[in-house]
Amino acid sequence: MKVRVAEKCGFCPGVRNAISTAERILAATGDQEQVHCLGPIIHNEDVVERLREKGLRTVASVDEIESGTVLIRSHGVAPRELDRLREKGLHIVDATCVLVKRVQQIAKQLEEEGYEVVIIGEENHPEVQGVMGCVHDVVVVAEETDLDRLPSDKRLGIVCQTTQSPEHFGRMLGAIGRGSFREMKVINTLCKEAVKRQESAIALCKEVDIMFVLGGLHSANTRRLAELCKNHNNATFHLQNWVELDKNVLFGKQVAGVTAGASTPNWVIDEFVKHLERFDERRECRLEN
Ligand code: SF4
Repeated sequence: MKVRVAEKCGFCPGVRNAISTAERILAATGDQEQVHCLGPIIHNEDVVERLREKGLRTVASVDEIESGTVLIRSHGVAPRELDRLREKGLHIVDATCVLVKRVQQIAKQLEEEGYEVVIIGEENHPEVQGVMGCVHDVVVVAEETDLDRLPSDKRLGIVCQTTQSPEHFGRMLGAIGRGSFREMKVINTLCKEAVKRQESAIALCKEVDIMFVLGGLHSANTRRLAELCKNHNNATFHLQNWVELDKNVLFGKQVAGVTAGASTPNWVIDEFVKHLERFDERRECRLEN
């Protein structure tokens, strides 16, 4: 089968930095002290497992850490959580992506300027939770149906979860603009790396018979890529790896496209592409008969 890979896909700089930081700490501490990560370092079970074998212990909350080092992943955390870690006397290594830090700072600044802070994004996503923790009052809106939560007749200071698509951001702003707000101050906090991945995925999925989006099912940026591709190519599949593929979907298809979320390692992409390239419909039919 002919396979084309999106020009831009896979690990982004923020994820690469978090992983290399984890590897560096683990190499430096050895068995001498426990190294924790607050939440899975990325939405990829293989990477989490590989780092676990090297000594990185993933914990769900600050309460589970008593001593040692704690790594803050690229999604960042709320300042309150950082304070709790400091109070416990833990060694903190902060690998929050600079672009996520920027959203946190902008949200704070907007609140100081008297705006009602609005985040366009997913309320349960760790990045959004971290930004929410930087301000006193905040409203998170994911879809247009959430807009009735916005305080009417106020000055809104609007930011966006870094991995949303420009189309969604624009649509939401248009919908908010139709409301009766005194002022809207909008800061574009989309991540260019995520946008580049979305653009090259959309361009590719329009030119292939079938499209695969590789990455964790909990990864927001991968889900967003899959949604966007699905809008342009109905034969889009979001999978974590080759093992999950039902080969029946390949029959009758000549050209496949592959892209991957920002937390998908290269080896997952390479393995998937290698298998796809080897896929031969006639041979598979012979084997089945
Ligand atoms: S997707 Fe963008 S904002 Fe998120 S970690 Fe990667 S570089 Fe940072």
